[in-house]
Amino acid sequence: MSSARTTATGSTPTRVDFTSFAASVSRIQRLGNTFVRVTFCGDELADFYAAGLDQRIKLIFPVEGTGLGTFPRGGADWFSAWRELPQDERCPMRTYTVRAARPELREIDIDFVAHGDVGPATRWVNRARVGDNLLLVGPDARTLVPGDGPVGGVEFRPGSATRVLLAGDETAAPAICSIVESLSADTCGQVFIEVATEADILPLRAPERVSVSWLARERRSNGEHGAALGRAVRAWASEMIAPGDGAAEALTDVDAEVDILWDVPNGFTGTEQAPQLYAWIAGEAGCIKELRRFLVRDAGIHRDDVAFMGYWRAGRPEN
Ligand SMILES: Cc1cc2nc3c(=O)[nH]c(=O)nc-3n(C[C@H](O)[C@H](O)[C@H](O)COP(=O)(O)OP(=O)(O)OC[C@H]3O[C@@H](n4cnc5c(N)ncnc54)[C@H](O)[C@@H]3O)c2cc1C
Repeated sequence: MSSARTTATGSTPTRVDFTSFAASVSRIQRLGNTFVRVTFCGDELADFYAAGLDQRIKLIFPVEGTGLGTFPRGGADWFSAWRELPQDERCPMRTYTVRAARPELREIDIDFVAHGDVGPATRWVNRARVGDNLLLVGPDARTLVPGDGPVGGVEFRPGSATRVLLAGDETAAPAICSIVESLSADTCGQVFIEVATEADILPLRAPERVSVSWLARERRSNGEHGAALGRAVRAWASEMIAPGDGAAEALTDVDAEVDILWDVPNGFTGTEQAPQLYAWIAGEAGCIKELRRFLVRDAGIHRDDVAFMGYWRAGRPEN
């Protein structure tokens, strides 16, 4: 049987400690209108544990005056120590996907969506210059205790699914591109990526039976965020998922305004009766909530076969 399996879903977790890595900007490339690829380098990155797929890390941005100096770099409980700092000394922290990692060259690429000049991450990337310093918080390869389960920060767990659906907006594009590049050659599936403009469509090599659709907002939906993605997924589902493939499910609604919109089942659970489909969806929380509701309640995909993640919330900073 062909399989989308690219990561283990076993019961023994792979354990690794997260630590901060000092890095500086070595290259900046604008990709289209929206994406800015920043390559970070630094000797400490030799110990970064690159897990691939949708691996997320935290980026720590400097504050005026004290730079990165106040960030608690030592100790296991750096997070609590960081939170206890006074607001004006606390370096902003934001979540990003590792688009590519080359530990042997001590390099990591991050694709930033330059969505304005409104948050610490976008303000930083708009002004970034080669040589600027940043901290990255991620897994430290020196502490790795291998198991057959995925490492923390990687959520794509298709198990033995024979079909995948990947759908997201531009913030999820780095994760989706990285996942697609890792799929085995016999994987079958559909990918939808909504981006702001046609100039943001990026080159992406996918297995033959994985169809990739980039949806440019400028030409659709009067630019409304998530509308093109929602329409495309609905149209796809009505053609691809036969009625009765799975039982429609009642769902406890998630309030995307209050709750963290994040549910990542521990691996594909499909049965003979259910469609052998694993769905991974990420992007703006409100849009993702709607999409997940549609996939589970209307399209009848088992809730345990849908990983959904709110990557950002309209009108709200990350923290
Ligand atoms: C697991 C994970 C992986 C992620 N990977 C990436 C990645 O690889 N690349 C990437 O660019 N982003 C990624 N994101 C999203 C990113 O963390 C958020 O967009 C983050 O809010 C940006 O921080 P900021 O400082 O620019 O804005 P914030 O200070 O967090 O927010 C300021 C304002 O900007 C709005 N805003 C935030 N993001 C967007 C957006 N994309 N478009 C329009 N308005 C926005 C907020 O609603 C708020 O009103 C990821 C998020 C998660 C959880």
